[in-house]
Order: sequence, then C-alpha cells, then structure tokens
Amino acid sequence: MDYPFEPFKIKSVEPIYLTTKEERKRILEEAGYNVFNIKSKYVTVDLLTDSGTGSMSQFQWAALMLGDESYAGASSFERFEEAVRKYTGKKHVIPTHQGRAAEKIIAHVLFSGQDGLIAVSNTFFDTTRANFQFQGAEVIDLPSPKAKDIFSDEMFKGDIDLEKLEEILKARGDRVKLITMTVTNNTQGGQPVSIGNIKKVHELAKKYGVLLHIDACRVSENSYFVKKYEPGFEEKSIPEIVRETLSYADIVTMSAKKDGLVNIGGYIATDDEGLALKFKEMLILWEGFPT
Ligand SMILES: *Cc1c(COP(=O)(O)O)cnc(C)c1O
Repeated sequence: MDYPFEPFKIKSVEPIYLTTKEERKRILEEAGYNVFNIKSKYVTVDLLTDSGTGSMSQFQWAALMLGDESYAGASSFERFEEAVRKYTGKKHVIPTHQGRAAEKIIAHVLFSGQDGLIAVSNTFFDTTRANFQFQGAEVIDLPSPKAKDIFSDEMFKGDIDLEKLEEILKARGDRVKLITMTVTNNTQGGQPVSIGNIKKVHELAKKYGVLLHIDACRVSENSYFVKKYEPGFEEKSIPEIVRETLSYADIVTMSAKKDGLVNIGGYIATDDEGLALKFKEMLILWEGFPT
C-alpha cells in the first residue's frame, strides 16, 4: 500500500547533537578523518551503518518484558523458532547474538583443522571473510562484471560471476567447500542479487558437491528488488520471494540487526540434521543453550 505519510506514531524520541561547521572540522581532524573514531554523540546524521539502528515497535518492546529467561526450553525461543522457520522455510533454527557469531560457528564446523579449503562468494562481507580466513580457508570474491560500472542502469549488480565460478569449480572443485551469496551484496555497494543468479549457483553447487550458504542480512530488501525488477516475480509477495531465495541455500546465516529490525540478534538456519547438530555443539560452547 502507498501511504502519503509514515503509517505509525512516534512515541519515543532521542535528542541529537547539533554541531557548528567549526566544531565539525575539529571533530573530523581529531578523528584522523576516520568516521569509526568519532564519538556518536557528535554525529547528527549517521550513515555509518543500518545495524541495529531501526526503531522497534511497541510489540517488540513489550515482548522484551514478556521474555522467558529460562536457560533451556524457553517459550521465547519457541516463538523465535516459529518466526524464523516461517521466514526462512528451514527446519533447524539456531539462535545467535549477532551475525558474526553465526559466521564463527559455521566457519569452525566447516573449515577448522583442514588445510587448503576454499570459499567463494559474490563478495564476502568483512566479518564473514575474516571468520573464514581465521579458520584457514582461502576466500575468493567473484563479483559480476556488471558491478564495475557504477553509472550503468543495469540491474542486479550484486550477482556472482557464473563463468568464473564454474571455472574455479572445474579446476579446484575438490577444494571448494562453500559458496557464499551475500544478499544484498553489501561490499559491492548493497546491490541486489537476482533469483536467476542464485538458482544457477544452486545448480552448480549441486553439480560439484559444494554447499551453498546465503548471508541473508538484507534478503527482505533484496526480495523487494526482485519483485520490482526481475521478470516473473511481479505477482509474488515479498515473504514468498524471501522463502524462494533461501530455499536454494543449504545454510542461512543472518544478522537480524539488519532486515530483522531488532537491536541485537541473529541465527543459523538449515535443513541439514548433521550440520545442525555440529552447529549446536559450538553454540553451547560460545553463545548459549540452543533453546
Ligand atoms: C552486519 C553484517 C554481518 C555481521 O553481522 P553482525 O550482526 O554485525 O555481527 C554479516 N554480513 C552482512 C552482509 C552484514 O551486513
């Protein structure tokens, strides 16, 4: 639906600091022109990230107070599991504190203690790349050549280069453990990925016996682009497109701080029983009990 105004009332406000031009000059100089060094209290418009910055609804805040804090078997987990199952279509839901915690767990289970394994991607997000490299994997980015021309009107510049992907799978397929599709492609300017591209990656992954991992941080936004610009998806709903996208993945990780619109949280989702068991073992060690 199109609204002429935001369809909600705002009942909580947070003051923002206003600076003068002189102050901003001094703050930037003192930060060495690195925005990561600026105190947030000096920032008037924050474009550093969308991570955990969304406003939460009254229902989300109310759910916080109704949270079941039991160590195991918490009813809050049942609600979370049901919601993530509905969103992803995956059977096993493993809760994490945020996206990189999910990445650390899958990196350990897939790569730890094995030399010479490779992970390829349309482009890795920095924490995913670092977690995989830390466990000894070689990581290779294969962005679509469309991504290079930032002025062209071409759609789906977040796609992976399918030709290069098949070349690597042909030449070094025995060493490639995982293909990661980052959806949308954050490091390539947040460009969307087409379902057509993901489908072909899924076929190649099956052909060469490689796992397909989707980093689903912005899969809702990506699905909006698919509905709007990919032929054949005009009549599908966003939730349907989200589920179709994720249906091609063996493993889904998500930082729910992005399209989950929460302050903190994330998960791993998979249909693979064996992998889910291994992920849960590491979860208990690093994050907490699965339920
Ligand atoms: C934010 C993000 C992550 C990491 O999630 P955190 O919750 O910050 O740990 C991973 N991948 C992508 C694409 C992200 O945007």
